[in-house]
Amino acid sequence: MTFPPWAPDHVRKAHLQIAPVFEFINKYERWIATAGGDSCDFALGNPQSMPLDTFVTALRNATTPRNAAWYAYKANEASSREIIAASLRTLTGVIYPPENLFLTNGATGALLVTMNALIGRGDEVVFNSPPWFFYEGMIVRSGGAPVAVDVRPETFDLDVPAIARAITPRTRFVIVNSPNNPTGKVYSPATLEALGTALEEASRRVGHAILLVSDEAYRAVVYDGARFHSPTTFYKNSIMVYSYGKTLLTPGQRLGYIALSPTMDHLEEWRALFYSTQILSGWAMASALMQHSLADLEKISLDVASLQRRRDRFVAGLRACGYEVRSPEGAFYITPKAPIDDDVVFCDGLAKEGVFCLPGSVVRMKGYFRVSLTGNDEMVERALPRFAAARSRAQARAGR
Ligand code: PLP
Repeated sequence: MTFPPWAPDHVRKAHLQIAPVFEFINKYERWIATAGGDSCDFALGNPQSMPLDTFVTALRNATTPRNAAWYAYKANEASSREIIAASLRTLTGVIYPPENLFLTNGATGALLVTMNALIGRGDEVVFNSPPWFFYEGMIVRSGGAPVAVDVRPETFDLDVPAIARAITPRTRFVIVNSPNNPTGKVYSPATLEALGTALEEASRRVGHAILLVSDEAYRAVVYDGARFHSPTTFYKNSIMVYSYGKTLLTPGQRLGYIALSPTMDHLEEWRALFYSTQILSGWAMASALMQHSLADLEKISLDVASLQRRRDRFVAGLRACGYEVRSPEGAFYITPKAPIDDDVVFCDGLAKEGVFCLPGSVVRMKGYFRVSLTGNDEMVERALPRFAAARSRAQARAGR
């Protein structure tokens, strides 16, 4: 693509940064448009079953205006902040002053506001790799420089010493995502304790507070009775980002928030800066309807037990076909090793069978592919023989 000469450098670079994602999405949209009714879509984490009745009822109830201001401009409404503060008290034991909470249009909005508020030109942001699709593009778009630190390949755990080594005087913050997309790892208290200590030490070394941004979009999706531990409870200068889109499996109905830890340095100044940045990032607030339904939405969740059963069936089925795959501890994704070196070629082959998955290369996970558990149970059964056939065919072609 030839960009116009006036296209700003950081806009062009951000575009190029996420080009592999666009390339995949363009291909995927073509496939979906031509696929027959028996296709199996595990590509992007979109729901493949009807939404929760309780979700629909909550929205339906909230649409009826009770007063003239029902659909007036909404910012971070006091009633919404109270609901979130109560929820966070139960989840983390931490008392968040309501003014620390910012209602956003999902986690993407929350992350963008955070990045716009924190990143100066040339500032570095450390993220753990493999990452969520858009961290790097968002960092570049905000004028920063992304710095990738690989997770430990044998366990997918954070490599805390490597994170510490990556921090320089230019570093502003470190992003951590638990439960993790794509690896499915949920970071343990021991890992998070070590991370907190490393960030304290690094802050002393570089002479300013390194912030921790905790992306907790999947925190309601944890398997095997395990408990989610918020990274924010292990480090004082933390910012939490949350989305209801995963908990309710309704990512198109945008709702999330930012929570500034009450222990943060310069809290009052950050509150002011986050609010102005929220407005200047395109009124990145939750809509009136979503704020009116928040009290009901807080009470509901997708059925994690049935997702866990699907995970077990899918992992066992893939292993039986010969795939090497770890069972995820949380989030929506299974990440098997591709049976040939080129995960893009392999996923293209699967797509020809009507089975759509994300090649690992799109998210810096070369040699793997990502399968979303948001496909329904019937799809899993239909897909497993096709996974087996695609593996045999790909290996035969590669002469294995
Ligand atoms: N963070 C992670 C780790 C995600 O996987 C996603 C969505 O897939 C997001 C953030 C964005 O969430 P939202 O749809 O609420 O913007």
